[in-house]
Amino acid sequence: MEEKTTIAVVGGGPAGYTAAIRASQLGARVILIENRELGGACLNRACVPAKFLLRSVEIYQLIKDSARYGIGVAEIGIDMADVQSRKNKLVSELITGLTGVIEANDIEVINGRARLLSKESIEITDKKGNRRNLSANKIILATGSQASTLSVLGADSPEIMFAGDILNLGYIPGSMIIIGGGMVGVEMTTILAKMGCRVSLIEMMQHILPDEDAEITAILEDALKRDGVRVYTGAVVKRIDMGDEAKQVFVTIRNIEKTLEAESIAIAAGYEPYLDRLGLDECGVAAGDGCVKVDEYMETSVSGIYAAGDAAGGLMLAYVAMAEGRIAAENALGGHSTIDYRAVPRCTFTLPEVACVGLTENEAKTQDYEVKCGRFPFAANSAASILGERRGMVKIVADNKDDRVLGVHIIGAGAVNLISEATLAIKLGATIDDIKKTMHVHPALLEAIWEAALDAGGEAIHLKR
Ligand SMILES: Cc1cc2nc3c(=O)[nH]c(=O)nc-3n(C[C@H](O)[C@H](O)[C@H](O)COP(=O)(O)OP(=O)(O)OC[C@H]3O[C@@H](n4cnc5c(N)ncnc54)[C@H](O)[C@@H]3O)c2cc1C
Repeated sequence: MEEKTTIAVVGGGPAGYTAAIRASQLGARVILIENRELGGACLNRACVPAKFLLRSVEIYQLIKDSARYGIGVAEIGIDMADVQSRKNKLVSELITGLTGVIEANDIEVINGRARLLSKESIEITDKKGNRRNLSANKIILATGSQASTLSVLGADSPEIMFAGDILNLGYIPGSMIIIGGGMVGVEMTTILAKMGCRVSLIEMMQHILPDEDAEITAILEDALKRDGVRVYTGAVVKRIDMGDEAKQVFVTIRNIEKTLEAESIAIAAGYEPYLDRLGLDECGVAAGDGCVKVDEYMETSVSGIYAAGDAAGGLMLAYVAMAEGRIAAENALGGHSTIDYRAVPRCTFTLPEVACVGLTENEAKTQDYEVKCGRFPFAANSAASILGERRGMVKIVADNKDDRVLGVHIIGAGAVNLISEATLAIKLGATIDDIKKTMHVHPALLEAIWEAALDAGGEAIHLKR
């Protein structure tokens, strides 16, 4: 009988567990090495806990607004201890579910820290310090990322929080300064502001979510301000002072110096691959810009060693990590799979949600496309009005020459689900006409995509001209 290929996967987050399951489906013997909990940052400290807290504040907001639907509620409040214990219960249920899937795929899980010894051997050190060596035909590195900090005076104070700390808070802080208006920063801001915390959000670039379309982010900024958030854009942090009396951030905003003060300070300044003590240098695995370098097949500079997910850099998102883990496994077992990075949705779970795919209008113009845009506001969509979620819009960016959809940008309720149609459109090279001729359900939020496509030619039905 032919001996099975042994694949060792380092890291049990979305990239690692997806790689492990795919390799097992393809008939390999799989060993998954994880030094913390299965599910990685995503399940334990990031996506899932953050979305649970967002759901809690969304329900809180819905109840506060319930009179609009003729429903009276006497008194409401947030019990943070209860919210946290429910969140922790959900996380452990999901870990149990994932563990069951991993076991059903006959994957051997080893708890310990892995270090590469060669292209076919790994040293594993368990929590007690015991070491063992393991051989594998192919290795997939999926070690994830860690929060970046700032290189300014005072940023190394242990009192400064990161997203993981905010997600574990057992109380609602009176006030908080969040440094960084990217995806994670605005999600944390939304959670805290909706709970009643006074948040000041600092972003160095000219608008929050700097990589997204300015028309879309202006709507988000307005929504945050309505929740009492003070948004400082074009603001460069110079120094942080975590004094006993006051916690202060010193910023320069368009040459004007300003001091912001709050009860707590958090940094959400991005994430960097976590490659600590992984043995990359010893094995000759090349790293650049802080991440493991990979080719289009997710193979590193050493043949037979692959990397996927946050460890490989690029867009650090769980679903990108899963897609990369999947193709790393396929390629480690002889495949030639690749990913179409043009069609990667970028989702931000704020209230309202933001979801975008493809090029922004500016990016398309910079790339010399002759651009035409279609827009449709949710205020003119009946499903949005029924939901009481009239904020937001859909914006479609297309190539005026051949009508091909280049980008779709959505802010509004349900945006992270709606973006799938747009992602498929970009993946398949669809045109505005393809969307126009596709029937969309009424009354539904996704009609706004259809109307935005119609608007690109001045044909929207529910817009006054
Ligand atoms: C607050 C927050 C919210 C987010 N929300 C979303 C979201 O809603 N949707 C989304 O798509 N993305 C979201 N992300 C991003 C997402 O969490 C990451 O992109 C995703 O977790 C990356 O998956 P990964 O498998 O590459 O790494 P990870 O999930 O970080 O998993 C890596 C695993 O490797 C283990 N490990 C590391 N080194 C070793 C070693 N030497 N030996 C053994 N094990 C090791 C770690 O313990 C860890 O469990 C969010 C991030 C944050 C911070």
